[in-house]
Amino acid sequence: MSIVRIALDVPLSTLFDYTVAEGVVAAIGQRVIVPFGRRQMVGVVMECVATTDVSPERIKPVVQVLLDSAPLSAGLLDLLRFCSDYYRYPIGQTVLPALPARLRSDKPIISKPILSYRLSASGAALDLDSFPKRKVVQRRILAKLTEQSCNLAQLKALSATVGAQLKTLEQQGWVEQYASTPSLALPLQGGELARGQDVASGVTHIFDNAHILTSEQQLAVDSITQASGYACFLLHGITGSGKTEVYVHLMHHVLQRGGQVLLLVPEINLTPQLENYFRSRFPDVNLISLHSGLSEGERLHNWQQAQLGAAQIVLGTRLSVFAELPKLALIIVDEEHDSSFKQQDGLRYSARDVAIFRANQRGVPIVLGSATPSLESYHNAQSGRYQMLKLTGRALAAARLPAVRCININQTVMHHGISENLLREIGQRIVRREQSLIFINRRGYAPVLMCTGCGWLSGCKHCAGKMVLHLKDQRLRCHHCGYQIRVPHACPSCGNADLHPVGSGTQRVESVLQERFPDARILRVDRDSTRNKRAWQTMREQIHANEVDILVGTQMLAKGHDFPALTLVGVLNPDSALYSSDFRAAEKLFAQLVQVAGRAGRADKPGEVLIQTAFPEHPLFRALQTHDFEGWAASQLAERQMAGFPPFVYQAMLRAEGKQENEVYRYLNEARTAAVASSHSMEIPGQVEIFGVVPAAMPRRANHIRAQLLIQSTTRKGLQQFLRAWQPLLDALTAQKLRCSLDIDPLEF
Ligand code: ADP
Ligand code: ZN
Ligand code: ZN
Repeated sequence: MSIVRIALDVPLSTLFDYTVAEGVVAAIGQRVIVPFGRRQMVGVVMECVATTDVSPERIKPVVQVLLDSAPLSAGLLDLLRFCSDYYRYPIGQTVLPALPARLRSDKPIISKPILSYRLSASGAALDLDSFPKRKVVQRRILAKLTEQSCNLAQLKALSATVGAQLKTLEQQGWVEQYASTPSLALPLQGGELARGQDVASGVTHIFDNAHILTSEQQLAVDSITQASGYACFLLHGITGSGKTEVYVHLMHHVLQRGGQVLLLVPEINLTPQLENYFRSRFPDVNLISLHSGLSEGERLHNWQQAQLGAAQIVLGTRLSVFAELPKLALIIVDEEHDSSFKQQDGLRYSARDVAIFRANQRGVPIVLGSATPSLESYHNAQSGRYQMLKLTGRALAAARLPAVRCININQTVMHHGISENLLREIGQRIVRREQSLIFINRRGYAPVLMCTGCGWLSGCKHCAGKMVLHLKDQRLRCHHCGYQIRVPHACPSCGNADLHPVGSGTQRVESVLQERFPDARILRVDRDSTRNKRAWQTMREQIHANEVDILVGTQMLAKGHDFPALTLVGVLNPDSALYSSDFRAAEKLFAQLVQVAGRAGRADKPGEVLIQTAFPEHPLFRALQTHDFEGWAASQLAERQMAGFPPFVYQAMLRAEGKQENEVYRYLNEARTAAVASSHSMEIPGQVEIFGVVPAAMPRRANHIRAQLLIQSTTRKGLQQFLRAWQPLLDALTAQKLRCSLDIDPLEF
């Protein structure tokens, strides 16, 4: 009789032993169904062993081995084991959530056929030259299908309206659907590639549309393609320097040799856009995306394509760092500084850091790309752990970096938060039929409502925060817990009817601008206006068609979008980040402002950025004006080193929240006592610094009191050693009715 050790999605840091009946094969990595308590669960076989500590009368047999999917590779299991250990999170809750939902369920996997499109006989007989010219999209679809049959995703790259046009073509009888079933063959094992071997015909002509690289781009591509085995590159390129073009060349290099590329991107918002872009650059390549916006079926299908080695390019958000990639040959992390690579619940992993570990484990190069690298990565590149590659000029000779100017809000006329100078500039853009973007990182009308009589502020009764005024639907809404009420007619505290909105959000900016420019076409882009799934897509098309004069938006607008007619960016209210208690706030603000500034003047028209601030002399704005990331990073790193902050120390944060304040503090104080004991018991004592228990930045949210305990060490190894000693003591503490989490390398404070 053999014994298998199974990972189950339960909050216990252990594997569970089961027996396997004679004749049944339960290999490592196989999914199985096992009894657990009174129910049955799906688990993954992590180990096969000869003996167990579980007594013979208590051990239970595996109910079923699920053979409808290939086993997980040893490499992936190793990666997940590493994550579970590094982030101090139960192994089963690490392994199972990394899989597509369908693989976590005990229902048999029915691989739905993927629908593809091809020309019908009458469609093939059409003469495209005499097809009506104005039916642009239909013509494009027909032309594409003349070359090859395509699935919907491939066709979608042609235009956003492909769906409707396809229907018409089907009704005409020119295009037909057929089912192409994904094969369930076992993936290639090993992942060793014969170097220089060319695969699939068609790969050679994927690259007709390449730009001739600038010398800096060429140097970057050469350095990376010449790397043998693991190497980590930091591609630091200003906005518009052609980082994406470097990725495309690298991908081409890998694809020619039959390898797979993993491209990680921060935002789900950007995925369809990037997907279309890379599809258009590599029309004959099997490219799939993996992100939480997919249906369960799509996600499983795409995951299996990656697992089979069939997907040549895998484009995904952070969770795709756990995709099976038997032929992985290159990892790219775009916008590596972005905090959305860090998961904020469950396994609190940094997809960027896991990607680096994975590249190392697989012996492949990894490229971290950014215009504003995180100080962690920048420091690593400077100290030689990573290799620095710089793109210092814009790729298109005509495109210059925007001019950045500050407007001192204390020395100018302001109209409800917008300066006269900025309004004038916007007016000139409207006359010139160019676009302006007004960036403000607050949605709603005003961040708070105030009584002029007694000073009452619209606080949330469940949180330590304020309720935001949403004038359009006459509501006060808490952005932390979602609680909302109707806007009161009089002050709840003194009865005074004179209530004033204080400060500005996107809605207020929108209405101020509308009043000043009644004929301007204004588009507001924030989480409220893009709640509907297709809304953002439609808005992008409007912007590109130049049907918008002024864009008002939050950080959603800052990232990766290319708006050719945009020549002015106005930044309202960036000052709070300058004096925030979060030591990363300035770093984030700098990155954000470089990103928004990068939206201006990408085409042949020069761009201008106006920043409204009370501190125009602040070094952050100085560095922005001179486009001096290096100088800024150097001063930030010097400050961090003096203050003993990351990247010079490694941190772990224990957080707790609960309804009873004394319970929260009792738990954290006991945890602290245990931490002191663990630190004394370490081989080399004095390696960790244990801070006091303090309230969280938002000390009360949704009626829960929140507090935290920070631990840090000057070495990663020291911190990890300490955490291993501390965790059993933590697990032994009673934490009933508390929500507790341990966050390694935390980003939020
Ligand atoms: P980044 O990702 O660094 O912001 P992009 O890759 O989007 O920059 O490049 C900016 C623009 O320059 C794009 O329009 C791109 O097509 C163009 N471009 C990039 N590399 C070259 C090149 N070598 N020659 C000509 N145009 C280029
Ligand atoms: Zn009042
Ligand atoms: Zn609230």
